[in-house]
Amino acid sequence: MKIYLDNAATTPLDPIVLEAMTPYLLNHFGNPSSHHKAGREAKAALEYCRKKIAVLLNAEPEEIIFTSGGTEADNIAIISAVTCNHIDHVITTPFEHPAVLQTLKFLSKQYHTRVSFIKHDEKGNLDLQHLEYLLRNNTHNLVSVMHANNEIGNLNQIEKIGELCEKYKSLFHTDTVQTLGHYEYDLSHLKVHFLAASAHKFHGPKGVGFLYCRKGQRLNRIIHGGGQESGSRAGTENIPGIVGMTKALELAYERIEEDSTFIRHLKNLLISRLTEILPDVQFNGNSADSDKSLYTVLSVNLPSTETDLLRYLDNEGIAVSGGSACSGGSPSHVLQALGADLERTTIRFSFSKFNTPDELNVVAEKLAAVYRLVAA
Ligand code: PLP
Repeated sequence: MKIYLDNAATTPLDPIVLEAMTPYLLNHFGNPSSHHKAGREAKAALEYCRKKIAVLLNAEPEEIIFTSGGTEADNIAIISAVTCNHIDHVITTPFEHPAVLQTLKFLSKQYHTRVSFIKHDEKGNLDLQHLEYLLRNNTHNLVSVMHANNEIGNLNQIEKIGELCEKYKSLFHTDTVQTLGHYEYDLSHLKVHFLAASAHKFHGPKGVGFLYCRKGQRLNRIIHGGGQESGSRAGTENIPGIVGMTKALELAYERIEEDSTFIRHLKNLLISRLTEILPDVQFNGNSADSDKSLYTVLSVNLPSTETDLLRYLDNEGIAVSGGSACSGGSPSHVLQALGADLERTTIRFSFSKFNTPDELNVVAEKLAAVYRLVAA
């Protein structure tokens, strides 16, 4: 039996996406910088994808820069904001992905960039009055706040944050790696300067993503080499990956109503099953609040047992995660920042359109069996 419930780590490739990519792996393999026919074909595909993504997000094609994924997009955005715009103060949250937090650590060492963290409550809700206080009392700010957290699923109010950034003439970067493809964006309205996305979180291929960079913002190279991506990101573009990402995004937005309704139903089903059958089950952050959390993520907090629950579920053919795939076994910085009881066990379940209600019943029963054994 194989049940995959770790879609926040990565999603399976949609077979329709593979079909769209295959001709660009086998036949149209040209380098988009070459001037012959094969190169021109690849270049046409590249520019078609840029335009298509821009249309889906209500942006301009030149505002889309293809990257190797979310990590690179976050790095380019934050490093560029600091090094091209005289930013000396970054306002962020302790819940950001390492792609953001480690970049900020690098910048504070290398450029003495100051970093402030927005206050939050015990559920992880950000205190926007504190953000406003930080913006009012500092100049040359970059705000970097993710749309949704990858471990607990908390959604942040990026529209309001964008408005505050505009009011105080601050730059705003948001990591939408967990949300783009699951929520719609109108970038002509959202007051954001930089936005990072990654294809493998919405049934596209791994190793490809993009940075949205609002017209008028300058980017600094972090990879040196050729003049690809209008000089912003050197290296031959991953054409099959970009074609796959574009197809995946088109599919995601074509079916967003049906898919999100279905996935919300799966998440609610698991919440009620676990609440019914497990003693003292809790949910981290806003995870169980459907208005304030990502519908694809449920972070469950369970009493500790002798059983290593993650290993047990893995042995049963069920893939889940203890936190994020990137934490490498160390205690989660997100749960630590929340002040969660680390003696208890956290399991992150994350869902996709390919899961079924039956799978969730199986998982709930498997977990219940462990706790029945403890109680016996
Ligand atoms: N940001 C968030 C919120 C993520 O969840 C991830 C991946 O898990 C990343 C950034 C990194 O994206 P990528 O794997 O495409 O480098």
